[in-house]
Parts: sequence; C-alpha cells; structure tokens
Amino acid sequence: MLRQSTIETIKTITPAVAANAETITRRFYELMFAGNPEVKQYFNEAHQHSGGQQKALAGAICAYFSQIDDLESLTPAVEIIAQKHCSLGIEPEHYPIVGKHLLSAIKEVMGDAATEPVLGAVAEAYGVLADVCINREKAIYSEQLSQPGGWNGYRPFVVAKKVPESRVVTSFYLKPGDDRPLPAFQPGQYVTVRMNGLKTSPRNYSLSDSPGKDYFRISVKREPGVGPDDPVGMVSNYLHDQVNEGDRLEVGPPCGEFTLRSPLEEKKAVVFLSGGIGVTPLIAMAKHLVREMPEAPVYFFQASRNSEAHAFSEEVAQLGRESKQFQSLVMFDKPLPGDLESGKCDGVGTLSEELLREWLPSADAQIYFCGPAPFMKSAYRMLGKIGVPRENLHFEFFGPRQEIESSIHG
Ligand code: FAD
Repeated sequence: MLRQSTIETIKTITPAVAANAETITRRFYELMFAGNPEVKQYFNEAHQHSGGQQKALAGAICAYFSQIDDLESLTPAVEIIAQKHCSLGIEPEHYPIVGKHLLSAIKEVMGDAATEPVLGAVAEAYGVLADVCINREKAIYSEQLSQPGGWNGYRPFVVAKKVPESRVVTSFYLKPGDDRPLPAFQPGQYVTVRMNGLKTSPRNYSLSDSPGKDYFRISVKREPGVGPDDPVGMVSNYLHDQVNEGDRLEVGPPCGEFTLRSPLEEKKAVVFLSGGIGVTPLIAMAKHLVREMPEAPVYFFQASRNSEAHAFSEEVAQLGRESKQFQSLVMFDKPLPGDLESGKCDGVGTLSEELLREWLPSADAQIYFCGPAPFMKSAYRMLGKIGVPRENLHFEFFGPRQEIESSIHG
C-alpha cells in the first residue's frame, strides 16, 4: 500500500515527469547498461536503436503515475509485463537494478525538481509496483513448472520440420529434445527462442498452430534491413539461413495474455484482423476455435503484400471447408499480375473503415488483431469510430507493447 503523502507527491510531479519522460528513459537505459552490463542480454538492441523501448517505458511510467491512486486499473498492464518478464527469465534481483538507475536518471534529468521527498516518493511507488510484478511473476513461474511437461527457463528443442509458408515466412516445427511431453498452451501465446551461437537477446515468437500437437510451431518472417547500410534482422535471418531440420534451439515456455476470451457460449462472432506476419497468433486461435466450437461464427481478415508474401493461404482455405460459419477475406496491397484474377486475393488494398463497416458481422463481436504498427493504430482507430466497444478489442504487438498502447490510447 502506498502512503497518502506519496500518492500526493507523485500526482504533483506527474506533469513534469511526463514532459521529460523520454529523456529520462533514454538516460535510464544508458546508465543501466553502463552500470550493469549483465542485464543487456534481456533487451533487444533493435528496439533500443529505434527508440521503441525508451518510448514504451516512458509510456508505462506515465500510465503508472497518472493512475497512482487506482492501482487496480493497472492489473491488465501488470499481466502483460509479468508474462513478458517470465518469457525472458526476469528474476526479483533485477528489480533493484532498474530502480536504482531509474532514480538516478530522474534525479539527473529533473535537476532541482527532484528533491529528496520527490525521490523518496518515486522510490516507494517503484517498490510497490515491483512487489506486485514480482509476486505475479513468481506465480507464473510456478504455474509453468506445475503442469505436465512444463518448465522454467530454457529447454532444448529440435527442429523436426522446416517449411516455407511464403517467400518471406518459414515455419519451424519444434519438438522437445528430451523425453518429456509438451505442456498445454493457449492459442495466442508465444515462446522465447534463444540461439547460443548468436550474441543477441532472445526473441519471442507466437505459436502459430493450435494446441494439442506433439510439436510447437513458430513461423518467422525474414526481416530485411531498411537501407543499404542497415543491419538485417539478426535472428530471423539466422533462423531462415542457418537453422535446419535436426538443429537444436533453446526454447522458453509458452507465455502471454493475448488469448481467446470466452464469449464462445454466447455464440457471438469472433473476428480476427491480421496484417502481414501478425497472422501467426491469429491463425492458431482461429484453428482452435473452428475445431473446438464449429458453430462459432469466425471471421478472418488477412492483409498481405501479394501472393508471394501471403502465408497460410491453404490453412485458411481448409478452415472454410471445415466450418460453414467461417468466413475469410484476403486483401493484397501490392498484388502481382494475375493475383486478383486467379482468386489469390479478394481485393486490392488493405483494412479500411468502409471495408470494416461492410464486413464486420456486428459491433458486439470480439475482435483480435495483430500486425505492424501502422496497421494496429489504424485498426484501433477505425474500430473505435464504427462503435466497437474498447473491451471487445484485443491485440498483440510484435514490439515493445506499451509503445503502441500509449499511441493508441493517447
Ligand atoms: P532485429 O535484429 O531485432 O531487427 C529488427 C529491425 O530493426 C530490422 O529491420 C533491422 O534492420 C533493424 N535494426 C536492428 N538493429 C539495428 C541497428 N543497430 N540499427 C538500425 N537498425 C537496426 N516475428 C515473427 O516473424 N513471427 C512471429 O510469430 C512473431 N511473434 C512475436 C510475438 C511477440 C509477443 C513479440 C514481442 C514478437 C514477435 N515477433 C514475431 C517478432 C520477433 O520477436 C523478432 O522481433 C523479429 O523476428 C525480428 O527479429 P530479428 O532479430 O530478425 O530483427
């Protein structure tokens, strides 16, 4: 519990912290990586370089401070953070490191405004949030361990099959490298992949097939460099080019809270909106739904570049054959000659308000979406505009999530 005087102090300094939030978080990461280089392994350098991580942390701090007198409202945000931390193996001893450098950064950036009472209040607020996260993470770690086939940390897996899904997406079918079974997971969750041969942080990959198989499937898009001198995506290219059937990977247990809510008994429609590689968690969810609840109306939208980039076309078509309640819509924004005529897509373009108004079954559908940042932001905005309640919108983002969250809620 926070003391009332702490709550008041935090409220007073929130505007000043918000005005300097990104400067504070940039300085925070500099101080932390210099003072505790051992924690660098938990952070993706591409997100550091793009500024996404700093923006995300700034958004999270502002959200916490502005809701300091209503900690209950932070529960969903805490769950996302705790799941992410558990995917990376964050431990309680990491929290004081973050706390120390965050306070130093605030002190440095805010200068005279960072008086002793202010720093004391920030330290207390940080400590309370850290305790909430640590407790939730402890529970997640023990849930992971307690299920049949469950584990903490990393476990060796073998690439049983490597299958190209399109010119840019390749699936890896991963089987345990030991004799133990696979644990259950919820469609929409992700695993963490670590490659000992690479000097970089581990990466998350959504499980792209439905549960109940004797493998985990991940489907990876090859990330190009953006300019001639930019580095190409390190892990995705390594997986595409260097990792083959029979090779071993280190995999963390399934994590994540982007899972199907349970409107299913109500027979309300479930809508999936995917942009590019954001299709991976959604195809897993759709396959699960169609098989487990064939009477559920399922709508599946896929935006892709063209037929060469389009992944899972056959799996989506198969769902249409399995359930009369399944409808799909595929749009290409840069179709190849003949794509439209041969029926490889249903139209040219991408998600638009007009299309949503026409295609969405009803405003009370549960909507799950995932894709690149511009896709997410416009989907969120358009869905709000046409009257879908916020609580019916569920999304995953393949980057620092609070970055997208602060830009869509802000
Ligand atoms: P990175 O090396 O991380 O680079 C990413 C981009 O940044 C590249 O375009 C690169 O050019 C640029 N870059 C990198 N370093 C620098 C630098 N120093 N300077 C300038 N530019 C730089 N991905 C999938 O393909 N499939 C999935 O199912 C999937 N699921 C995910 C689920 C979750 C929950 C999350 C968080 C992410 C998911 N991702 C998924 C994304 C995945 O984790 C990786 O981020 C992605 O594969 C890119 O990693 P990379 O190492 O190839 O690229």
